[in-house]
Amino acid sequence: MYTLNEGEIIDSFQNLLDDLETITYASYFCELIDIAMTEEESNRELFKDFISAFYFMKNKVGDLETLSRIFELKVLNATGYGLNLDKCCICRNKLNSSTYMSLQYLGGICENCERINGINISNATYNILRYLNNLPLEKSYRVTIPDGLKEEIYKVLNTIISQNYFKKPKSLETLNFLKGS
Ligand SMILES: [Zn+2]
Repeated sequence: MYTLNEGEIIDSFQNLLDDLETITYASYFCELIDIAMTEEESNRELFKDFISAFYFMKNKVGDLETLSRIFELKVLNATGYGLNLDKCCICRNKLNSSTYMSLQYLGGICENCERINGINISNATYNILRYLNNLPLEKSYRVTIPDGLKEEIYKVLNTIISQNYFKKPKSLETLNFLKGS
């Protein structure tokens, strides 16, 4: 605001307000940015992902839940809480998959290391998280998380987000309530 004298709206994303789902997810994305970043902090990469996500929603491309999970991973990465899923976060040995994730180090733990301060997750969830973590957001519309794994992936990322930022996001709660989950 200090150097900006005039602005022109390129796109107000008005049509996102036509549908309860897109309103909710759009609010959620704004809320995530708000809780994850400090006032006046600039992050071009995240801004690009944020705008891309809004265009995907506007044009109804891809699956909203999958897009949200990828956006969450991007926010975590951009703010220093990125997941490390390629190596064991204790011994640093290469990890093909895992069934345990450390909430302290935000990574997988191998069979040989002590499993503490974390959560059990399924192999499938681990693999999908790793895949999505490396996927550019512009390609998100090509993938959809299988229905049976959406809930677990949501819970894992929600736990990490709630633990690491000063505030827990609330936008999705109403929608989850309406959907009965
Ligand atoms: Zn290990």
